[in-house]
Amino acid sequence: MEIREAREALKLYFGYDQFRPMQEDIVSNILKGKDVVVLMPTGGGKSICYQVPAVVKKGICVVVSPLIALMKDQVEALLVNGIPAAYINSSQGAEEQYKIENQCLDNQLKLLYVSPEKLLSAGFFAFLKRLNISLFAVDEAHCISAWGHDFRPEYTQLRALKQQFPQVPVVALTATADRLTQKDIQEQLHLQNPEVFVASFDRPNINLSVRPGRDRYNRIRDFLDKRQGQPGIIYCLSRKSTESLAGKLKKDGYSVTFYHAGMSPNQRAKAQEDFLRDNVQIVCATIAFGMGIDKSNVRWVIHYNLPKNIEGYYQEIGRAGRDGAKSDALLFYSYADVMSMRNMLSEGERGQKSQLELQLVKLERMQQYAEAAICRRRILLQYFGETMEKPCGNCDICRNPPVTFDGTLLAQKALSAIARTQEQANMGLLVDVLRGSRNSQVLQAGFDKIKTYGAGRDISPMDWQRYLHQMINAGLIELAYDQNYTLKLTEQSRRVLFENRKVELVKFEEVRQTEEVPLVKARPKKELIKDALFDKLRALRKRLADEQNVPPYVVFSDATLQEMAAERPTNRISMLAIGGVGAQKFDRYGEDFMNEIMHFITEEQDKGNKIKGATHLVTFEAYKQGFTPEQIAQQRNLNLATIYSHIAALYEQGYDIRIGNFLSKAEYQVIARAIEKMGPDAKLKDLFELLGEAYDYYKIRLSLAVYKKQNS
Ligand code: ADP
Ligand code: ZN
Repeated sequence: MEIREAREALKLYFGYDQFRPMQEDIVSNILKGKDVVVLMPTGGGKSICYQVPAVVKKGICVVVSPLIALMKDQVEALLVNGIPAAYINSSQGAEEQYKIENQCLDNQLKLLYVSPEKLLSAGFFAFLKRLNISLFAVDEAHCISAWGHDFRPEYTQLRALKQQFPQVPVVALTATADRLTQKDIQEQLHLQNPEVFVASFDRPNINLSVRPGRDRYNRIRDFLDKRQGQPGIIYCLSRKSTESLAGKLKKDGYSVTFYHAGMSPNQRAKAQEDFLRDNVQIVCATIAFGMGIDKSNVRWVIHYNLPKNIEGYYQEIGRAGRDGAKSDALLFYSYADVMSMRNMLSEGERGQKSQLELQLVKLERMQQYAEAAICRRRILLQYFGETMEKPCGNCDICRNPPVTFDGTLLAQKALSAIARTQEQANMGLLVDVLRGSRNSQVLQAGFDKIKTYGAGRDISPMDWQRYLHQMINAGLIELAYDQNYTLKLTEQSRRVLFENRKVELVKFEEVRQTEEVPLVKARPKKELIKDALFDKLRALRKRLADEQNVPPYVVFSDATLQEMAAERPTNRISMLAIGGVGAQKFDRYGEDFMNEIMHFITEEQDKGNKIKGATHLVTFEAYKQGFTPEQIAQQRNLNLATIYSHIAALYEQGYDIRIGNFLSKAEYQVIARAIEKMGPDAKLKDLFELLGEAYDYYKIRLSLAVYKKQNS
């Protein structure tokens, strides 16, 4: 089997011109009959890796997936692409299962999704033996490993696959990065000398940014107002805060719901469904939300609070932008969050000292990420053991490199205050001392008498906290967690105090100001038009999806709609060139989307906005409404010849034009002979003369269109 066939299937069924780099290797190995392990981040495009081989290979591909809730949507998406598929799981009655089994036996299906329970149930292997199985795909394969974060004991029995079907290749897929799990997968499934593919965990389309945790609510509103109608998730720390934030947003007119593990299964299913179907824009949720949510058009994820660790954070932001289109991850960070997270962890892990230490170290890494002054993606990838050559250019730090200044004097003031308070002050108290505050704690301790009292009045308390943090991160100050969070001097701080070592600090005010600039900058008109069309297409998608009772992203992904909005395809050829528009989807939705685009273009034209290449579409709109070429020419104040050239072009591009109304068969036959003689690139004038000036120019023009179309 050749990879060429696979490429054709990719275009025909999925509408994509190319495999992503690793996909092609994976597919060709599967086609060769090898066992394969695929580690790819969420959104990396795992499904294509087995769906394309399933289509081109003879027989049926059996997909084992633990996420029953997702099977329906996955099958739906395949059917929409014209690939016969079905699922069998416990949610169905016996009769339905029987029906599907018969379809399998009749060789009607290319893919069958089953839950592991069903696969291992009595008699099922015997049933499978009667089929011609091309491939087993084990999705969420990390569930097989006790090391992983989602161990499912029944998965370990999947080793029976290789024992019972030694000839059938197995592809195991997971989004887990962890190498231990990867080894476990191979061993447990008894894979035979498998090819292992580890994709980069980079998700370059997700823009990363961190903002100070001040005034979060209003900042979120600003953020949302720039993303009207774009679905997204706000992760909150507690169940209560998901509800209160959602309530507040609702009152302010946003389309929002909430989700947490304390709700009834029905309530949860409803919230999830509403979000999946784009009935609500925003979900305020605890981290319970998202497992097994396969919504590719999530455009942003906000973390209202600092997450516990980078693994969790990465998984959560990974729910944005699975379709590869631009998305945002915004994290709010405040020191108070670190403190409350520390407390939560300490309470949770009481009695398990080593576990607690591990959690605290992980939290610290998270904090470092939030406070970083270098490319954030670099830090994330580093954490997962990948190195990046260059800064990413798509995080807040890359786009607004922090401005540093010589903070030696400032640092000396702080360190000296720490020394003079006998290292007994915590951060709040130290800031009070530096700012010369007269509160009782300061006075009681007699700190108003020390030399550095009030030495930092010119700096706001908030900024003091920030600078102190930077100093903690740089090792200039130690934060004694075990001594009421008091601040201590270190070896390095002594060097600053006594040896005049220089200290570079990041200027916060500067960062904040420059950060706002690109956001308020007006978008160019071209972009605005694109956005407006995107909104229209999205509304159409929602309408079609609701009619067919599928989630909107099953119709087309955001990435596909964005490409449509940019390219504005209005005929078959240009529509099929859009990524994500395969033959089947074109037949099903192409017309609707082309009409919407054409409608949009003519509307813009009417508003006086010139859109390139659209003039013949305006003619087409008028033609569809029944106007004659003469009438159109008059309406549009154009030459009749121009209108006929539009009609010829439209016909050639496959628009529904009744050419016979303008050109009889007999006329065409004569003109076509002349064209044959002179070739299709002949000048109109020459043809006109060759035909003895007996036919109008426009008839010759139309004949050329018919001739070219017939001979293309
Ligand atoms: P995963 O299962 O790894 O999370 P998916 O298989 O859902 O990822 O794919 C994520 C998105 O990328 C989908 O919208 C999918 O259609 C798109 N995609 C996959 N392969 C390609 C490709 N070769 N070209 C363009 N888009 C692709
Ligand atoms: Zn960066």
